[in-house]
Amino acid sequence: MTDLSCDVAVVGAGTAGLAAERTARRHGAKTLLVDAHFAGTTCATVGCMPSKLLIAAGEAAHAVRRAGLFGIEVPAPVVDGAAVMQRVQRERDLFVAGAKRSIAEIPDGIRIEARARFASPTTLLLDDGRRIAARAIVIATGSVNTVPEAFAAVRERVLTNASIFDLATLPRSVGIIGAGPLGLELAQALARLGVETHVFEQGDTLAGLHDPEVARCLHAILERELPITLGVEVTATPDGDGVRLAWKGKKQGERRFERVLVAAGRPPALEHLDLGRSGLALDEHGTPDFDRATLQCGRSSIFLAGDANHDRAVLHEAATEGMIAGRNAASFPEVAPGTRAVPMAIVFTDPAVAVVGRLPGKDEPHVLGAASYEDQGRAKVFARNAGLAHLYADRATGRLLGASMAGPGIEHSAHLIAWAIQNERTATEVLDHPFYHPTYEEGLKPALRAICKEVHAPQRDDEGFTAGS
Ligand SMILES: Cc1cc2nc3c(=O)[nH]c(=O)nc-3n(C[C@H](O)[C@H](O)[C@H](O)COP(=O)(O)OP(=O)(O)OC[C@H]3O[C@@H](n4cnc5c(N)ncnc54)[C@H](O)[C@@H]3O)c2cc1C
Repeated sequence: MTDLSCDVAVVGAGTAGLAAERTARRHGAKTLLVDAHFAGTTCATVGCMPSKLLIAAGEAAHAVRRAGLFGIEVPAPVVDGAAVMQRVQRERDLFVAGAKRSIAEIPDGIRIEARARFASPTTLLLDDGRRIAARAIVIATGSVNTVPEAFAAVRERVLTNASIFDLATLPRSVGIIGAGPLGLELAQALARLGVETHVFEQGDTLAGLHDPEVARCLHAILERELPITLGVEVTATPDGDGVRLAWKGKKQGERRFERVLVAAGRPPALEHLDLGRSGLALDEHGTPDFDRATLQCGRSSIFLAGDANHDRAVLHEAATEGMIAGRNAASFPEVAPGTRAVPMAIVFTDPAVAVVGRLPGKDEPHVLGAASYEDQGRAKVFARNAGLAHLYADRATGRLLGASMAGPGIEHSAHLIAWAIQNERTATEVLDHPFYHPTYEEGLKPALRAICKEVHAPQRDDEGFTAGS
């Protein structure tokens, strides 16, 4: 086999890597794209899409159970676990086929199916023995599942996001380790599908929320459907063909589950890249320092994009980072900052959660506007009146800085707030925009008005507005 050379070598054909390769090529670079499998992106195969498909099934069962609230009497839903999983897999496979189609559209000679690691700052060594000499390299290797040592003894009963969507049917019971976005989304979906589900979290918050009041509110709402135990360490031992979990810390207990789902974080997939040979300065976790605006690692010709940099591990950011890294890799040593959007993370629980912009620092002069969904018109109509939105704004100007929200329709309201923050809008200016009645978006008004009052900014909407007017 002969060695290869190119202007830009991209390692990893996920969302970030595909965007990086495409962009570098559009900018005139001779590119090579290396992936171990070309199996489709994480999003399509084991991430965003199959998890939303499971959530959709859970929502359908939940809607049937709630029908009585509206005077519609139906028997309790009978969940056919095998049929649920078949739909998840069928639809997932269509998304995967779409991802593979875009990979197939890449011109011949560019795709290299191999595992890559560094041999030098400008050379990759492939596991088929070949080498790639590249003027610039984009690392887009994504993130990996971790199963903590505490679960080693029950490894064959452990599920992760890489295996759960391939189950032939639903398990009877699942202990879920981790109350982050991934753990909570799957936990609620499974619980709604009739799986006995219990979430355990060693930290004292959930869903990535750093605002304790919003976190407490979400915890209370979700616990109406399933137990979520925070502040506990869990140990696991085999119990027949299941697993016995024992937990201690803020609470104590033990219980047998059929399976354990470990959703305890996804560190960047950098371990097998031999970064020691890349010439990059690495931190104590073995992660290279990189610039968020250019994606460049130090002053090197190496760029780090997507989950691999562990900065904003969500899909739209992986795509943006891939584009910026690809463009800069093509133009290296000329490197320019790319446009970064306001940070926005959404958790597709019910109610949904969103964290947008930034939480102001402790000493930063700011105001907090709060809005509860308990008495919100639209939410009451649909019997979904629970949740809390906190908006943070600059104390001097009322300009919005960030938001932590858990409530009905939050995935949509979060976009409005993100766009307002990105456009440097004040609470007054946001209130000047139309809010249709009765919508979930109206639920933000009390928080915006509270900010206007605190900063003595004009509030030109009608405060007399009530939930049912
Ligand atoms: C269950 C779950 C649900 C999610 N839900 C959402 C959601 O609703 N919304 C959202 O925005 N985000 C969601 N995410 C996050 C989102 O999926 C990721 O942020 C995104 O897919 C990351 O893309 P990437 O290109 O960085 O990595 P990936 O798509 O993982 O691509 C990395 C690629 O690198 C390859 N690779 C790794 N090492 C090597 C090597 N040494 N040599 C060659 N190839 C290598 C791998 O084979 C892989 O193809 C979810 C994630 C999970 C796990």
